[in-house]
Amino acid sequence: MLSVLIACHDCDLLQYKIALAPGSSARCVRCSATLYRRPRHRIDYPIAWAITAVALFIIANAFPVLSLQIQGRETSTTLLGAALTMQDQGMPLVAALVLGTTVIAPALGLVAMLYVLIPLRFGRLMPGFVALTRLLQTIAPWAMIEVFVLGLLVSLVKLQHLATVIPGIGLWAFIALMLTSVAATATYDPHLIWQHIADLDTADDIV
Ligand SMILES: [Zn+2]
Repeated sequence: MLSVLIACHDCDLLQYKIALAPGSSARCVRCSATLYRRPRHRIDYPIAWAITAVALFIIANAFPVLSLQIQGRETSTTLLGAALTMQDQGMPLVAALVLGTTVIAPALGLVAMLYVLIPLRFGRLMPGFVALTRLLQTIAPWAMIEVFVLGLLVSLVKLQHLATVIPGIGLWAFIALMLTSVAATATYDPHLIWQHIADLDTADDIV
């Protein structure tokens, strides 16, 4: 038995953590909420999803998201281009919000996740490991690619009346990025990271 207490996130009951078999989960004795899991795949899945998300992130930001055809003229823009246009039109706050939630927060999250997980996969703890693990929890609510994609789809339908709208490579990449980011976050479990460190028997080095 690991002599570590865990608080139920639903009812706050303190319970002792026990070692689990791979593929099983522990539930709260009072309210049956899932306390923690021990997946079979360990930390390979979040690494694979995060690497895929980084590749899609680069494609999504490098290629046009939408192209508009009005009376024979075609204009297309990337997300960065759209944010710069918003700033030129006197909406710096909206531009900053779009960049922050769609580019900066997801990029920081993915880089921090890979910086923590890849060396850990090979048995090493990088400097700033604890701070970055905390940073991941802090910036997670600010990564809102799904909100951006939803907004894009709505505006795409609305713009159909005004112009011919052609979805760009960037839009497809953003949809794929949304799915892979969700998969990376869903498979990234902080309990799993600490379990992995305990298995490495190097936990003393990071305190
Ligand atoms: Zn509970």
